[in-house]
Amino acid sequence: MGRSFTIATFAGIPIKLHWTFGLLIFTLLFLEYRETENLTGVGYMFIYISLLFICVVLHEYGHALTAKSYGINTRDIILSPIGGLARLEDIPEAPMKEFWIAIAGPMVNVVIATITGLGIYFLGLSHLPEVEVISQLYNPSGLLQLVFWMNIVLFVFNLIPAFPMDGGRVLRSLLSVWLPRKNATFIAMVIGQIIALGLLVYALLSSQLVLGLIAIFVFYSARQEYDSIALKTHLGDTKVSEIMRTEYTIITNDQSYQEIVDIAQATGEHNFLLEDQGAIIGCIPYPYHLGAEQKYGKKIAAELHDSRIEFVSGDVSVYEVYNAMQDKALSIVAVGSVDYISGVVDRSIIQTYIIAYQRRRWSWLKIFSRSQ
Ligand SMILES: [Zn+2]
Repeated sequence: MGRSFTIATFAGIPIKLHWTFGLLIFTLLFLEYRETENLTGVGYMFIYISLLFICVVLHEYGHALTAKSYGINTRDIILSPIGGLARLEDIPEAPMKEFWIAIAGPMVNVVIATITGLGIYFLGLSHLPEVEVISQLYNPSGLLQLVFWMNIVLFVFNLIPAFPMDGGRVLRSLLSVWLPRKNATFIAMVIGQIIALGLLVYALLSSQLVLGLIAIFVFYSARQEYDSIALKTHLGDTKVSEIMRTEYTIITNDQSYQEIVDIAQATGEHNFLLEDQGAIIGCIPYPYHLGAEQKYGKKIAAELHDSRIEFVSGDVSVYEVYNAMQDKALSIVAVGSVDYISGVVDRSIIQTYIIAYQRRRWSWLKIFSRSQ
């Protein structure tokens, strides 16, 4: 993502400004000044940008606070030239939860548009701006009209069903009610990419840089998100017993660091179980990372080991085990029970499996493109 700066924190969520956005604001203000040499104009421009900024931030809080009500935290809210992004720590698999989180952002804009729209109505003003955007700002009613239209645009634009934009997420969540998540995402991705291409063509024809960037972003992130769900589904459908290593070395407490490294090099195993008097008491993680020799060179297994060991059933999915290993920072788990181990699964096996899967998908794509 590149550098961004935290400018404020609300409800425990930092709001960050991406440097390119800071640069854009500065450039817009500078150009306004150079053109008009009028500081009041620059001031109104600043108010305009700030209002847009506040509306986008409130929109993102709509997503973030709805997610929070489902127990999902938000890492941060990033504002970049192509829009705001609430980076949720997780996207719920329950379709209706995803639906409410996705729709909550645009609904914030509906609320703001309704309030300002009512204000305009009761003040007896026109809902349609009559003069140029900036000059409207010179009077408070112009400001009201501006905020009204800004939120209508934010609402409509975000609900374009181009996954992974809000509208696309709404579409995916609704499709997921009837279809498996992977298939729902595939359909949403295809629709999203078609719309993104359309937007890109339109942006090129009308030379709108920001819209073009949004289109490219949507096109790639739709694919990326589909890939990650396809992988997740694949790992979820694979049992640990299908990928576990049944040939593995068990290290004993008195073996030296050097012996472990030799075994690792000879066998290609990266992580080991550790045994003491016939019982598995822990594991030895990857013994030859950078600087390991200096640090552990003179130690024996008993001093190197990680005393945590987990036993998992062979029927559990690879996805579940991989997640648990990530969460607990485990390098290896034993498949079976304390009395009987049928194999081991470590990070490198899972990673190799993932890479093989991705390659297979790519080679399938290559055949597909060649046959066309
Ligand atoms: Zn949104």
